[in-house]
Amino acid sequence: MVFCSHGTSRMNSLGHWWRASSAHYEYSPSHRFLEILAIAAAIALMVVMSWRLLAALASTASLLSWACALGAGLVGYVAADFVSGMVHWLADRFGTPDTPVLGEAFIRPFREHHDFPKRITHHDFVEVNGNNSLVLLLVLAPAAWMLPAQLDAAWLAFGSFFVSFPLAIFMTNQFHKWAHMDEVPAVVAWMQRRGLILSPRAHDRHHTAPFETDYCITSGWLNPLLERFQLFARCERFLRRRPPQQTPAEHHEPACPPPSV
Ligand SMILES: [Zn+2]
Ligand SMILES: [Zn+2]
Repeated sequence: MVFCSHGTSRMNSLGHWWRASSAHYEYSPSHRFLEILAIAAAIALMVVMSWRLLAALASTASLLSWACALGAGLVGYVAADFVSGMVHWLADRFGTPDTPVLGEAFIRPFREHHDFPKRITHHDFVEVNGNNSLVLLLVLAPAAWMLPAQLDAAWLAFGSFFVSFPLAIFMTNQFHKWAHMDEVPAVVAWMQRRGLILSPRAHDRHHTAPFETDYCITSGWLNPLLERFQLFARCERFLRRRPPQQTPAEHHEPACPPPSV
């Protein structure tokens, strides 16, 4: 079942799961503890990998190595923007908060966010970044384990991508939160003005009717390109397309009018 994520009628229909009395997520202490562990582990892995990359770069004068590392780091940042858009689009447009496995943890926060956009600014660091960190460990741990002792240009590119991509994913919800805040630290405001991270003005387009554009929320760099090619609209049409109708002759049943959409 497809779930419309915007509008006041949705808020009424979701009254049973929305807890208006709390600005914080209500989840078990054990899950919060798990998220704290995941955040600590993700940060530790990114620090260790970054240290190894910087040590390798400091010991080489190879322009190729530096170019590979910087280029892969940039690709990782752009890839995170793309992934943020895909995940956001899927969570906004498909399933419900009651969907098994993913509904509670991933779909529900996105749906709540559209009814109460400012509420994210009241969520603390663990609430904002915990879930992402849990998923990131599935990427970071294998990447850290694979990184060899000696890093040539190719391995520097590999390591740089698998630091910048998880780091950008890790920060995506934080960037999103900052885009909704009335006041942010000066350095954050500077990055927003320069377009280095998601800016409030760019993100406002997502929260403006028809609420179906600008899903990327890391830097938002890809939004103009993806909207130009209508990637999400095309993907949605493809995923929602009906299977070919069997003819009455094949079914040996009388024809009936197609269901109204
Ligand atoms: Zn959204
Ligand atoms: Zn938002």
